[in-house]
Amino acid sequence: WKNTPPSLPWLLTAARAHGERLLTIYEDERVTYEANFRATAALSAHLARAGIGRGDRVAIAMRNLPEWIAAFFAITALGAVAVPLNAWWTGGELAYGLSDSGAKLLIADGERHERLLAHYADLPSVEAVLVARATTPLDGHATRLEEVIGTPHDWSALPDAALPLVDIASDDDATIFYTSGTTGAPKGAVGTHRSILTNILSSGFSAARSYIRRGEVPPEAAPRVALTVIPMFHVTACSAHMMASIATGSTTIFMRRWDTVRAMEIIERERVTLTGGVPTIAWQLLEHPDRDRYDLSSLEAIAYGGAPSAPELVRRIYEEFGALPGNGWGMTETTATVTHHVAEDYLNRPDSAGPPVAVADLKIMDADGTTELPVGEVGELWSKGPMNARAYWNKPEASATTFVDGWVRTGDLARLDEEGFLFVVDRAKDMVIRGGENIYSIEVENVLYAHPAVTDAALVGIPHRTLGEEPAAVVHLAPGERASEAELQQWVRDRLAAFKVPVAIRFSEATLPRNANGKVLKTELRQLFAD
Ligand code: ATP
Ligand code: MG
Repeated sequence: WKNTPPSLPWLLTAARAHGERLLTIYEDERVTYEANFRATAALSAHLARAGIGRGDRVAIAMRNLPEWIAAFFAITALGAVAVPLNAWWTGGELAYGLSDSGAKLLIADGERHERLLAHYADLPSVEAVLVARATTPLDGHATRLEEVIGTPHDWSALPDAALPLVDIASDDDATIFYTSGTTGAPKGAVGTHRSILTNILSSGFSAARSYIRRGEVPPEAAPRVALTVIPMFHVTACSAHMMASIATGSTTIFMRRWDTVRAMEIIERERVTLTGGVPTIAWQLLEHPDRDRYDLSSLEAIAYGGAPSAPELVRRIYEEFGALPGNGWGMTETTATVTHHVAEDYLNRPDSAGPPVAVADLKIMDADGTTELPVGEVGELWSKGPMNARAYWNKPEASATTFVDGWVRTGDLARLDEEGFLFVVDRAKDMVIRGGENIYSIEVENVLYAHPAVTDAALVGIPHRTLGEEPAAVVHLAPGERASEAELQQWVRDRLAAFKVPVAIRFSEATLPRNANGKVLKTELRQLFAD
């Protein structure tokens, strides 16, 4: 065994010791650590026979399924690069991911394979496709994954085998995760074995931190039962969530799609201890009218990140669920977790995203990136640490702008307080500048959220002839609640400077449009005001 820790196959091999504990639950499929290991080893051997080796890109296009995890580890165990593609993408978008990454092989589920049928002819680099849960008959270059490793029900009966012996260095490329595409075309960020695994350290340290702050000895990390509803193709679910889970022998439950009632049934039945992912999930659990019919008392924590969340949410999770709220800031380019905000710290600073994890450094820079700003001032957030991706795949210019001397220029506007707690105020691209006055969306959104009738809110800039831009808002009201535009404008006027009051407020029947990672699609909202 020559792999130098830390590497992904090293983690998986170590985690094999969890044996008969459950790694994943998906509907009636219950996969143990041992069964997942055997499936991974068998799939890895198959990929090696198919000619996959160090540095080759192999794409995964699947919803959250047990096969996703086996595929991820089978690819990275060979020193090849896993390219998780967004399962909600159209055929054309999936084809973009395949050609951008130059993937040699694709592991897809039936739905994604079907979407790609019309595109394979234009993707000469994709030599073979393995299809899990095929929905159509397969042709020449596609093979059923079940022919190679069976279904998850069969995995524990697969032969005992080791992972292939491959020399992998911690700084070798392991992944290409695509950004969410909130502000433009998704960019592939290249992660290394080290950057992915650093999340284990980050999460272990922050779990311990709240005890250390109270002067207590942290207990050993207990295995958890997590209901994971964020997709594995986003870096947070795969690296922050999955790596920490595997390291602690935890169980991850996948859902076919989010459904609040189904989620509450699962929490009750499986005694789930952790859920969340994105703030929307926490809101939906809180606001569900039948919530009291389920026993949700096993929930110890509801943690989320990836998008701004209202301070209101923190208190409600704590008071109404008796669970500890958690928040974290990170981006694809920083391989998820950079700050982690838990327990008392979060209750005391509900508008912060928390302090940096032990291995991260943060600084606030001026707009041209030449001068570091003092504590308390708002500027562009820069982030440094072993979790950072190496570069963007195939985008030298964008890489040179974003990855600077070990730092990632985040494009987020933020400030740090005296104790190093991070306060994100906006994305630089979303900030509204009204006649020279800066308006940070998150500040206005949080005031709207605090109105009793409002459950969803977003601020966008709309063009103005002389002022350049003016703030406008879109809100979604809780069922049965009423509020007029004038009333909400007055609510903001009573709490913030007059120039921050939205000049127009539109009411959305549905909750606001979001991408798979819980981020409001502001470009779509700006269209609402186009006239
Ligand atoms: P793209 O870069 O393609 O436009 P994206 O930035 O949405 O998409 P991600 O890497 O998934 O893609 O998201 C990172 C961004 O999410 C951060 O830059 C920040 O704006 C936002 N974000 C993440 N965590 C938090 C948080 N805890 N609070 C506020 N915003 C957050
Ligand atoms: Mg981004």
